[in-house]
Parts: sequence; structure tokens; C-alpha cells
Amino acid sequence: MAHITMLNLTVTPNVSVVRRAKLLPSRVNDSMPIPDFSKNDGLLPAIAQDAATGEVLMLAYMNAESFAETQRSGRAVYYSRSRQKLWRKGDDSGHTQHVKAIYVDCDADTILLKVEQVGAACHEGYRSCFFRQVQGSDVVVTAERLVEPGDVYGK
Ligand SMILES: [Zn+2]
Repeated sequence: MAHITMLNLTVTPNVSVVRRAKLLPSRVNDSMPIPDFSKNDGLLPAIAQDAATGEVLMLAYMNAESFAETQRSGRAVYYSRSRQKLWRKGDDSGHTQHVKAIYVDCDADTILLKVEQVGAACHEGYRSCFFRQVQGSDVVVTAERLVEPGDVYGK
């Protein structure tokens, strides 16, 4: 990132440094906030993916506040639609997510977190929420449960 790769353009290195610094969280240009929390009533889907293996771990939602805290703290913070408040992943379970990189999609309305997952991403005790595979008319559990949910959440 420290390397300026646009030296052959007419912009000065200083300008390109500023532009790069402004990519997140504010704007690439004046017309396109990134991510664009003006969409979807301020709640954008956020996919968490294992930074090392590429495994898709879960899908949750972020508002601007949770996104800012995620950036600031380096730990995944979502917005819980059911509880209607910030959800600091792992506060109850200890199964935190350390954020290695943040991406936004082409429309700036879907977020991708590449994370280092501690324990199970899923509240059902599986590493990934996608532990069930649809096979024709059947749904088959295709992953090992890492922890019993009752042991983690004390229910
Ligand atoms: Zn889950």
C-alpha cells in the first residue's frame, strides 16, 4: 500500500495517497459512498469468510455504526435485527472474529469480511452457518459440530 503505482499518470504522488486514504470509509468520489448505507434502510448484508481457507462462515447485517466500530476495533461487529442493537460477535460465546480485510461489492451495498474465526461462527455450534446441504428433497448436515450450543450460551 505504501507503493505508489500511478506515477505515470498526471496526478502527483501526494494526490494519489490522499485518494487511497479516502477509499474507506468515506468515498471514492463525491457520488459514491462506500459502503453505501443510504441503501436498504441503512442495513447492509455482510458476509464473513475465513481469511485463510475462503470458507463462507456466515451472513449478518451491518449499519454504519457497526461498520465504523469494526474498522476501529479490528473485530467484527454487526447489527442484530432481532435485538435491534449492535452485536459484537463473540461477546456471549467468546467466538470472536478478527477482521483481516474488508471488501465491498460493485454496488457498494454488500460487505465482505475476511476474518480469523475463533471457534464456531454459528450459534448452532458449527464453524460455518452453512452446515446443511440441500440434496434433492433432503437436507443433510455436512459438517461436524464443534461445540454444543448449551455449553456456549448457557441455555
Ligand atoms: Zn449460524
